[in-house]
Amino acid sequence: MEVQLDNILKNRGIRPTAMRLLVLRFLANSKTAKTLNAIENSFDMADRTTLYRTIKLFEKKGVVHQIDNGTGVANYALCEENCNCVPGKDLHLHFHCTKCGETLCLTKHKIPKINLPNGYMPENINLLVTGQCPSCFHKVDKNCSLSL
Ligand SMILES: [Zn+2]
Ligand SMILES: [Zn+2]
Ligand SMILES: [Zn+2]
Repeated sequence: MEVQLDNILKNRGIRPTAMRLLVLRFLANSKTAKTLNAIENSFDMADRTTLYRTIKLFEKKGVVHQIDNGTGVANYALCEENCNCVPGKDLHLHFHCTKCGETLCLTKHKIPKINLPNGYMPENINLLVTGQCPSCFHKVDKNCSLSL
């Protein structure tokens, strides 16, 4: 695992420091997108500025992408291997669960090419679906069958 993480950074031209590997491992192990605060809270010794710089570097180099989930706080998730965050190719749907508040990448569900008027050059498309994630949705189901 450690070796792989190492390579993710090296492939993107980032020197793997202990801090960078820590942040990368945290994001790689989480199934949902994380805010800067959540990342910060998971490291006792992390300096906020260093953490912010690490995330911004990751974002610039395409290791992570930022997700606007409508809460006004940016969330970050790991990019897939070979992702260039290109519209019509890499960009995928994001889902924000209104029950548990988690935001996740639906990486298998790419955003299709969107037609724009002539002269417009898309750089980023943010497509967010809100609703209930499978575990929240099934929780309701389970409660129903128990009470029957
Ligand atoms: Zn990406
Ligand atoms: Zn949920
Ligand atoms: Zn995503």
